[in-house]
Amino acid sequence: MTCSIQTIISDAIVIRRDIHAHPELAYQEHRTAALVADALNALSMEVQTGIGGTGVVGTLRRGTSSRSIGLRADMDALPFQEEGCSAHASTAPGIFHGCGHDGHTAMLLGAARHLATQGHFDGIVHFIFQPAEEGLGGAKAMIEDGLFDRYPCDAVFALHNWPDLPAGTIHTKPGPIMAAGDKFEIVITGKGGHAAQPHHTPDAILTAASVITQLNTIVSRRVPPTELAVLSVTKMEGGQTHSVMPAQVRLTGTVRSFNPAVQDIIEGAMREIAAGTATATGTAIEVIYTRYYPATINDPQAAQAALAAARLVTPDVAEAPHPAFTSEDFAFMLQRCPGAYIWLGQGEGQSPPPLHNPFYDFNDAVIGTGIGWFSALASTLLPAE
Ligand SMILES: [Zn+2]
Ligand SMILES: [Zn+2]
Repeated sequence: MTCSIQTIISDAIVIRRDIHAHPELAYQEHRTAALVADALNALSMEVQTGIGGTGVVGTLRRGTSSRSIGLRADMDALPFQEEGCSAHASTAPGIFHGCGHDGHTAMLLGAARHLATQGHFDGIVHFIFQPAEEGLGGAKAMIEDGLFDRYPCDAVFALHNWPDLPAGTIHTKPGPIMAAGDKFEIVITGKGGHAAQPHHTPDAILTAASVITQLNTIVSRRVPPTELAVLSVTKMEGGQTHSVMPAQVRLTGTVRSFNPAVQDIIEGAMREIAAGTATATGTAIEVIYTRYYPATINDPQAAQAALAAARLVTPDVAEAPHPAFTSEDFAFMLQRCPGAYIWLGQGEGQSPPPLHNPFYDFNDAVIGTGIGWFSALASTLLPAE
């Protein structure tokens, strides 16, 4: 059954708002995954659910070619309260599509419908709907569950809406596009004692202050100035009252970078600072350093293919001048399969709410551009005779 692109777009907007009103956290996207599977089944695709938890893959074949591409969207929401009051506002207290994954899922479903009903291509398209992008590695879970063994892809593509860019604009670049995300926790243990007798106990608070100061020299003094990196201490916990020296202080923070060698430098420097400061202050300092997402690295050829497909749907296409320091689970897919990740501008006005802001809402005006881009990848990379 053929349907007009206008119908596909307006139906995708309805789906987007429905998903927005019913957000689900990582690995709990049961309603969303069922909605996705139902929509793909209605298109008579081969559909598999339960991949890597709640992941779903739909496969569409045309013609005789064995060439294949993967198109990926993420389905999870975030654990915080929406403060906007649209008609489709979240009905789940404390859960919110504050990163626009509702829009990503709706656009990929729109592209599936467009390609299934009127796609002109020769080959195989795998529509990949992943759980748990927000910090819990849903892409990795799908890969470990055999994603690329069961659904081999010559190339894989994904997008993220980008409030910093004007609505409908598409940017990407070859090479690094999103940063590696590391997190650290530093536990400083003294002894605890009377605040009036500081000579009887190592001062965990003063030690924490010293550690924070030294951590802030790592990027400026240890990392080569030609490399990009950020280190932020974001949480400090310790102490009860004015007269007690706490026995323990905990620091938490994040590191973002684009090169595993830089991650090694930063983690190594952090451990040296901890060991040296512990010796100097008489405290014990433990460093727990976790590299949870690698850098998202676009394959140069796939990035050019992504830009070429974008030019078929919008005039506002450009090579991004630099990567972003946010991180992205799609990095794991790009480690296994060449591909590219793009930003789809969705900003309107002077200062649209950023991602993860309580007033953020996906901009439905760009749904047609996203559907067009996903669809154009199939027609350009899997051309029919
Ligand atoms: Zn996010
Ligand atoms: Zn996101």
